[in-house]
Amino acid sequence: MNILVINSGSSSIKYQLLDMDRERVLVTGLVERIGEVHGGLTNRTNPGTKNERLIQRSPTIPDHNSGMRLVIEQLIHGQDGPVVGDISEIHAVAHRIVHGGESFRQPVLVTEKVIEAITANVVLAPLHNSANLEGIRVAMELFPDVEQVAVFDTVFHQTIPPYAFLYALPYELYEKDRIRRYGFHGTSNKFVAGECARILDKPVQECNLITLHLGNGCSVTAVKNGCSVDTSLGITPLEGPVMGTRCGDVDPALHAILHRNRGMDIEAIDTMLNRESGLKGVCGLNDMRDIHAARQKGDEMAQLAFDMFVYRIKKYIGMYFAVLGRVDAVIFTAGIGENDSEVRESVLSGLQGLGITLDKVANDRCPDAWMRINAPESRVEVLVIRTNEELEIGRQAVEVLSQELVRESPFWAATLQSGMVS
Ligand code: AMP
Repeated sequence: MNILVINSGSSSIKYQLLDMDRERVLVTGLVERIGEVHGGLTNRTNPGTKNERLIQRSPTIPDHNSGMRLVIEQLIHGQDGPVVGDISEIHAVAHRIVHGGESFRQPVLVTEKVIEAITANVVLAPLHNSANLEGIRVAMELFPDVEQVAVFDTVFHQTIPPYAFLYALPYELYEKDRIRRYGFHGTSNKFVAGECARILDKPVQECNLITLHLGNGCSVTAVKNGCSVDTSLGITPLEGPVMGTRCGDVDPALHAILHRNRGMDIEAIDTMLNRESGLKGVCGLNDMRDIHAARQKGDEMAQLAFDMFVYRIKKYIGMYFAVLGRVDAVIFTAGIGENDSEVRESVLSGLQGLGITLDKVANDRCPDAWMRINAPESRVEVLVIRTNEELEIGRQAVEVLSQELVRESPFWAATLQSGMVS
């Protein structure tokens, strides 16, 4: 079964065509700068194999519809050879949706009602959900006969109990406006939790984990018996550790102070906290690789930004140890978590009291799909696991489609399970 996974942003569409029978990436690509004079298409066929083929073009891409047509054109009539014979060989389209609010506790088939509910959550994530909806709308137009599945970044965290997801605000804000912690990076969390369980050779339902998703956006999640019980990102992806350009935790009175003292309006404050803060706000750089280079040249502000980044993550590890009681593994994932041994070493230094001892030699290696970096005497396993959100979205889509087929026709369910639809 071939599934096209789409992550539609405000001016870009990331896509992967996955052969889910073999869990293999057939094509991965990016349509970007939609709406600008020079758009961009990067398409990689058979990525990571000796048959990899790369196409890069800069056509004008006026809107998402043209962007998606370009993708389909590339898949069927690409200069580097067709990947599928025709559109019917794409059996489903799976969409990454950032904010499911409280409306969704699992991935679902896209229906009019589902679109309405995603639209109702636009207020919680205006940029993300609007762009995701645009992706759904265009895909429904261009793939009219194909099932569309919505997979939500928030779903994994729907198991967080009220005492952890509520903010201590007047309760009616939750009742009327659904103001609460939702958490994000759920797809990544579910993927690495599953991988971790496989590595530890025990059911995920028995795993207590602390996941450190450290990329441009960062989050820390406490997973108890395979379920999220707390996470650092909140009603929006701004709360928690220091991020590339996002501030993470601040005193909420900050808004009033900035307004009174500097005359900043709420839009200016929101932009500053999301785009001009975090590592960038402190030292002017938001990419951890650039920060290392600056530190090596003796840049004190880069060092300060690095120290703040590490310290805040360490604090969250301590908090979530207290939340979980027993921790089987700490997992590092995403751009920084997977690649930056110095961040990992600094984050874990001094945590022997929590049963965490790092193997520094192992930590300096480069992981394939995963690697273990704790010393043998460490009570807690420490794993670096490369996340794969697209594959997780594909897996969840297959699950939704199988359940739907079971409901509609046991015959088709059996066919699907036997791999006859490929
Ligand atoms: P992500 O959001 O998961 O794509 O992660 C992006 C971030 O990961 C970048 O902004 C970099 O800060 C960081 N990153 C990627 N590769 C490396 C690397 N080799 N070493 C350190 N940081 C890296």
